[in-house]
Amino acid sequence: MTDPLIPAWFAIPVAAVFGALIGSFLNVVIWRVPQGMSIVRPGSACPHCGHAIAWYDNLPMLSYLILRGRCRRCGARISLRYPAVELLTALAFAGVVAGAYGAVYPAAILPLLLYWAAAGIALALIDLDHHRRPT
Ligand SMILES: [Zn+2]
Repeated sequence: MTDPLIPAWFAIPVAAVFGALIGSFLNVVIWRVPQGMSIVRPGSACPHCGHAIAWYDNLPMLSYLILRGRCRRCGARISLRYPAVELLTALAFAGVVAGAYGAVYPAAILPLLLYWAAAGIALALIDLDHHRRPT
């Protein structure tokens, strides 16, 4: 990107935070889509005790660390996969945006590349879980 409107030192960390949030959503997609469940409702709940997860317990990676990988109410273990998917998506988004600043490709195709990164992560994990991809 020549003479970018937004400096790289700002855009790349913002892309990482955005990626972590998208990663949190991908966890929902990876879990629910193969089961034919809605990705909108109901909200996230502990699979062990059914306790609804509050927004402050659903912050990408941070909540996992704060809760030490356990449900706030029942103490059941939360899979390490959730923060791992969030971290992977954060790194992927930061890398894609860094690539645009490194002029590896034009910035105009960033939305497409970010979409592919997110879809690729979701499809790879659904395939890993079920050995099939949703059609
Ligand atoms: Zn629980």
